[in-house]
Amino acid sequence: MKTELIVVLGAGESGTGAAILAQAKGKDVFVSDSGAIKPAYKALLDANHIAWEENGHTPEKILCADEVIKSPGIPETAPLIVQLREKDIPVISEIEFAARYTKAKMICITGSNGKTTTTSLIYDMLCRAGLDVGLAGNIGNSLALQVARQDRAYYVIELSSFQLDNMYDFRADIAILLNITPDHLDRYNFEFQNYVNAKFRITRNQTERDAFIYWSEDPVIDREIARIQPCATLYPFGSTEKHNVAYTDGAHLVVAAHKEVEPLEIPLEQLALQGKHNQLNSMAASIAAQLLNIKNDTIRESLRCFAGVPHRLQYVATVKGVRYINDSKATNVNSCWYALEAMTTPTVLILGGKDKGNDYSEIDRLVLDKCHTLVFMGLHNEKLEEHFGALGYADGNEHPSAPKRYFSTHNLHDAVMACADSAHDGDTVLLSPCCASFDLFNSYEDRGDRFMNAVRHL
Ligand code: ADP
Repeated sequence: MKTELIVVLGAGESGTGAAILAQAKGKDVFVSDSGAIKPAYKALLDANHIAWEENGHTPEKILCADEVIKSPGIPETAPLIVQLREKDIPVISEIEFAARYTKAKMICITGSNGKTTTTSLIYDMLCRAGLDVGLAGNIGNSLALQVARQDRAYYVIELSSFQLDNMYDFRADIAILLNITPDHLDRYNFEFQNYVNAKFRITRNQTERDAFIYWSEDPVIDREIARIQPCATLYPFGSTEKHNVAYTDGAHLVVAAHKEVEPLEIPLEQLALQGKHNQLNSMAASIAAQLLNIKNDTIRESLRCFAGVPHRLQYVATVKGVRYINDSKATNVNSCWYALEAMTTPTVLILGGKDKGNDYSEIDRLVLDKCHTLVFMGLHNEKLEEHFGALGYADGNEHPSAPKRYFSTHNLHDAVMACADSAHDGDTVLLSPCCASFDLFNSYEDRGDRFMNAVRHL
């Protein structure tokens, strides 16, 4: 009998892992990448004697596949994918493929914002509880590689809509949907509903024995649940007790996923992750942990001690009484809104970078309430100067004693120095730039790392 041919498109973390797993399961494997493959992945493929090509695809070879595993970065409209569809060759995601070869319990997290934070928090809870758990999806090693090398009893998986798009038979034991706001519409034919449908694929194949945890105050989620009526048992969370199994009572976070178990209560000020959005993330994570029978004491310890995820409201240091916070991952205005909302002291805010058509008016009220100084850091600050100038912020170089001032800088060093000069004992300096980093930095991680380094040298 002919051995099945699996073609893997895209040789990144997920593609390389999928290729290794496919080979371990006795398939013929061919890996094809339209760009250059990173040396580390090439070495891994070579070490496993897996055939690969880079900087282009050979369609004759690919169109002979029995099944194709596609990187989430490749759109449905790519000519090769169109050809595969025409030939009825199944195209699946790495997660779909890997899940066929493990009996582990799957805890899956999706949403427009908060995925990495919530996934990491759940992973922390399961680790503290001593469970045999792997972290997968957009973070950590690929699920496929873990299944091939060291399979686990539980996986906590961060799922983007692109991964969900190519999942068919996969079933999440616990699915979490944090929120849905328009994003990536260029990949969804500019139809918001297509993106919503992709997110809701996380409930696909679930039965009433499975759990669907979701933010009940999100109008889009609320509407869709009424429309599609998922089969899973529902565990809503939100800011009030009404209908929710996790909520805040004003002073505490309360989680009561099990009727027969004592609810978990924790004072809000004890939560390691501060801010309203993080209360929601903490609720979602705690419900999942309770459903896995993790003790409330363990969950509480994680909620108190979780170190957070780098570049998301990450505490850096306190210098001369000023707290420095790195929120470099805030690459859009909505993320900055949540960061500002979490600030409890007078704030100096660093903004700017590559503007993706931002409307800053969304943060006007919070900026006025909380920030005495704004520091712009980008190659082109004109739009920021104009917007916040009109809001009442004066150029600090021209009006040094104005109560609300901005400083326009074009590199990280000058920006951090302007912050240090403007901040008073008890203030917070917040890097939450609303913009992509590519004008001055390689990535948001690079921006955050260099910010933290500069702060530590103050
Ligand atoms: P993702 O992985 O979905 O991009 P992250 O956990 O990396 O999300 O958080 C990215 C940014 O989104 C954070 O800096 C924060 O400001 C914002 N954020 C986090 N959680 C939420 C939430 N539940 N709702 C809205 N915004 C959030």
